[in-house]
Amino acid sequence: MKRIIITIDGYSSCGKSTLAKQVAKELNYVFVDSGAMYRAITLYFFRNNIDLENKEAIIKAIGEIDLSFAYNEANGTSDMIMNGENVEVAIREMAISERVSLVAAIEEVRTFTVAEQQKNTINKGIVMDGRDIGTVVFPEAELKIFLTANPEIRVERRYLQLIKTNPLITKEEIKVNLESRDYIDTHREISPLRKADDAIVIDNSFMNREEQFALVLKLASERMN
Ligand code: C5P
Repeated sequence: MKRIIITIDGYSSCGKSTLAKQVAKELNYVFVDSGAMYRAITLYFFRNNIDLENKEAIIKAIGEIDLSFAYNEANGTSDMIMNGENVEVAIREMAISERVSLVAAIEEVRTFTVAEQQKNTINKGIVMDGRDIGTVVFPEAELKIFLTANPEIRVERRYLQLIKTNPLITKEEIKVNLESRDYIDTHREISPLRKADDAIVIDNSFMNREEQFALVLKLASERMN
């Protein structure tokens, strides 16, 4: 069977990472959460008070950031490591979600992350999720999925996920954050979120995880044979 690249793009909180992880595990492929990279850079900028209008400061800060993923045996997935620190929990906090789309719109940031994402891909066998993976990072990918779901359902799913670690979180706060990120992500000048022409759209509003997983596996095996 041929090893392929699978890209999963779409709006915030559509379940891209959940699907990507499931598919990668089944196929024994590498899973890359590209959003985690933008979140880690945002965390670094936030901690170091980097002014998003100051190009020089941004370029310097990017030069100080080293990103990698480490396998987490406890949950069978990979954690984001920034400069040797496991930041997997810190990057999911609301303070980062509120800033990440502004950071991700910066040209220097995208140049850095896209180059990182394109490293070590010669053997393929990758499932990467994000916003520009099928359009910019791997325009030649064999299978491109564009995931979508209706906004109320996305808020509800995100709420159920975040309430576990933050009992004070409200649905309104999540709704505002998802709307704002989707707006910035689709309207930015560089690599805006959009469906690649050859991507397959899956609306998972009324699909369960198993149905969605089975569909993507079927599409993947067609491309692998
Ligand atoms: O996937 P996640 O929701 O964690 O991504 C966080 C943010 O990172 C997105 O809202 C978007 O602004 C940015 N992002 C991006 N390009 C990607 C992945 C994420 O701009 N490929």
